[in-house]
Amino acid sequence: MDDTSLDSILDSLSRVPRLLVISDFDGTIAELQDDPETVPVNRDSVTALETLGGLPDTGAVILSGRDLATLRRLAGAGAAVDLVGSHGAESTGDTVAPTVEQRRRLDAVTELLEPLVDGCPGAAVEVKPLHRVLHTRRVPDREAGERLLRRAVELCPEGLHVSTGKCIVEFSAVSVDKGTWISGARERGGWDAIVFLGDDVTDENGFGVLGDGDLGIKVGDGPTAAGHRVADTDGVCAVLGRLAEARSAYLDR
Ligand SMILES: [Mg+2]
Repeated sequence: MDDTSLDSILDSLSRVPRLLVISDFDGTIAELQDDPETVPVNRDSVTALETLGGLPDTGAVILSGRDLATLRRLAGAGAAVDLVGSHGAESTGDTVAPTVEQRRRLDAVTELLEPLVDGCPGAAVEVKPLHRVLHTRRVPDREAGERLLRRAVELCPEGLHVSTGKCIVEFSAVSVDKGTWISGARERGGWDAIVFLGDDVTDENGFGVLGDGDLGIKVGDGPTAAGHRVADTDGVCAVLGRLAEARSAYLDR
């Protein structure tokens, strides 16, 4: 699919009655890098989302695997952009606390992960309200990192959902994923079309629930259920910028 046809799809999507634009965060509007606390955010992408979210009959969402508090701190997006964390388990305004049973299961997997991490310099366990995440991006020995991820997947802790992504294995106390969140958002908002952009394995759940009138855009290489692809975060910025411009012009006519 060449740029011209993607541009013409964006132009026709900009004219639907109710449009929802959803973007992943890391690897999509922020660059991936070793230190997850200082990821460079593409401000033009955020501005385009703010423009879209400020238009009538238009929604703009950043949907991330990050916990909501961290996403809010790093994204720096204005109130026109809805932030949704933990793959859809945490929405703006929600306070999320695990049940006693969920907490027991999450603590149990933390106990299993800690000795693995202790034996692998650079590896770390991230604690989120409803998730525990093993990170290996900072493990200098790539093979050791891969081995650690495989061992973590094999833990199969009771009652938790396990998913994998780029240098992570995630254990979730809830069955919410980006696909279930997008489906729910479509029902709640009565959107006529949804645009969703993402770069990682967890985004495939989102691409999987898109329909014929929607647009899924995969960022970077790798297998995908998305119908379109851009190379990198600059490509995302171009898509969001074009969409914001076209929709503003359409609604202003
Ligand atoms: Mg991502």
